[in-house]
Amino acid sequence: MNLLNFISQFPDEERYVLRYKSVRDSVGVICSVCKSTEHRWNQRKWLYECTKCGNRATLRSRTALHGSRLPFSYWFVAMHLITSTKNIFSALELQRQLVHKRYEPIWAMLNKLREVMGRREEEYQLTDVVELDEGFFLQLPANKKTQTRQRQLEKK
Ligand SMILES: [Zn+2]
Repeated sequence: MNLLNFISQFPDEERYVLRYKSVRDSVGVICSVCKSTEHRWNQRKWLYECTKCGNRATLRSRTALHGSRLPFSYWFVAMHLITSTKNIFSALELQRQLVHKRYEPIWAMLNKLREVMGRREEEYQLTDVVELDEGFFLQLPANKKTQTRQRQLEKK
């Protein structure tokens, strides 16, 4: 998909959010407390609720976007660039393109995407941003191992 087609699919932030939600719905949500996969969507609070234990989860929680406050559009644009360009681009370049003030969140986003996509590529080739699927919705454990890995990446 070229950039013009991509942009025409997503005219505003809401469209990105809805797209993200529809893919997450189709992949499914696993409760972090009781591991149940049965959830209902609370439209008023904009949260998933486990039908078994009532535990709540945001759209981003335990996905690649966990803990990020960047707009969904940033993530989609970054994914589009990663999958559609042959050249490696830097976080600095992406920050410039997104006209974002701070470097660190952009850098962290790019690293997270490369980590998640790298894991997926071991299974099969990623061809398109629309192929956003379960690889993107890994149930990320917020454990020490992840934090250690994050620190290792930061050192590099
Ligand atoms: Zn539960």
